[in-house]
Amino acid sequence: MEIVLPPLKIVKYPHPSLRHKGRPVTGVDAKLRRIAEEMLELMYAHKGLGLAAPQVGLPWQMFVCNYAGGRENRDMEAVYLNPFITEKSGGLIEGEEGCLSFPGLFQKVKRARAVKAMAYNLEGELLEIEVSDLSARIWQHETDHLHGELYIDRFSEAGRAASRAALTAFEGEYRQAQERGELQADTEIERQLTELEKLA
Ligand code: ZN
Repeated sequence: MEIVLPPLKIVKYPHPSLRHKGRPVTGVDAKLRRIAEEMLELMYAHKGLGLAAPQVGLPWQMFVCNYAGGRENRDMEAVYLNPFITEKSGGLIEGEEGCLSFPGLFQKVKRARAVKAMAYNLEGELLEIEVSDLSARIWQHETDHLHGELYIDRFSEAGRAASRAALTAFEGEYRQAQERGELQADTEIERQLTELEKLA
C-alpha cells in the first residue's frame, strides 16, 4: 500500500511523536531523499541547527543538521541515517540548548564535549564521525530525539523549575489545538506512528 505523506511540519511538545522511538531506516529511495530535503528546508526556515525525523512526525532513525547555521553554508549540511554514538569523551560541558519542538525555550544542558559516532549517508555509505563542542552537542541532542528522549529530560533541577511555566503553556496550546480539531487525538496519532514505522 502506498501511503502519501502530507507536507512535513514540525511537531511541538507534547506531540506523541517526540516520545516515540524511531525505527532504523532500511533503504534510501527517492522518497527518503525528498523527505531529507524537506527536513533541511524546515530546519533553515526555523533557524535551527538540527532536526530529527520524530520532530516532523516520522518515527525513523534519521536527522539533518548544519552546525554552520543557514542556507548560505549548504556545503556544511548533513543527513544522517541510523546514527549511533560509539564513544563520548572530554568530560561534560554545560551549554545552552533550544529545540524546534519547544520554540523559545532555552536552557543549559550538560553534554559530553566530544563524541565518536557512526551513521549512513544518503549514498548508503557508512561514515565514521568524530565531532566536538557545538557539533557534538547537536549530535547528542538529535540522537536523543531518535530514542524518544528530549533535552528537557536533561535539565538541572533549577532549569526544570525555570521551564515549568513554558512547558505548561506548550501543553495547554497542544490540548486546545486538539479541542479545535486542528490536531488529532493522541490515540489516533499513535496509530499513525505505528503505520509509519513500517515505511522506515
Ligand atoms: Zn530538539
